[in-house]
Amino acid sequence: MNAASHPFTAALNEGVLHYQRCTRCGHAQTPTRLACSQCGSAALQWQEATGTGVVVAASVVSRAPSDEFRPLVPYTLVLVQLAEGPCVMGHASPGIAIGDTVLAGTVPHGDRRLLHFSPTP
Ligand SMILES: [Zn+2]
Repeated sequence: MNAASHPFTAALNEGVLHYQRCTRCGHAQTPTRLACSQCGSAALQWQEATGTGVVVAASVVSRAPSDEFRPLVPYTLVLVQLAEGPCVMGHASPGIAIGDTVLAGTVPHGDRRLLHFSPTP
């Protein structure tokens, strides 16, 4: 399985943010795991997130980790706790800060889409 065929990435390329939910205990989790981090069950389903959440960490990247991201610097990365519970990392609008309420979307980047959070209106 390459990155583009991974269920999370494939959904993101369609503009949908997915997370895993355990059908045994109901726990919601990210990142992707083979089993539930709470009860160990492998009965996991992909579910569509509402996309709303709260910023729990934010950082401005001034030095890109690869040539792919060099044209984007400086850019903001955030860790967002989704309304469903789990946290995801994504890009964000400049100026976003811890405690801000945000809404997930995507932005094109090369042949794929990146998770991108904007302030809620
Ligand atoms: Zn579980």
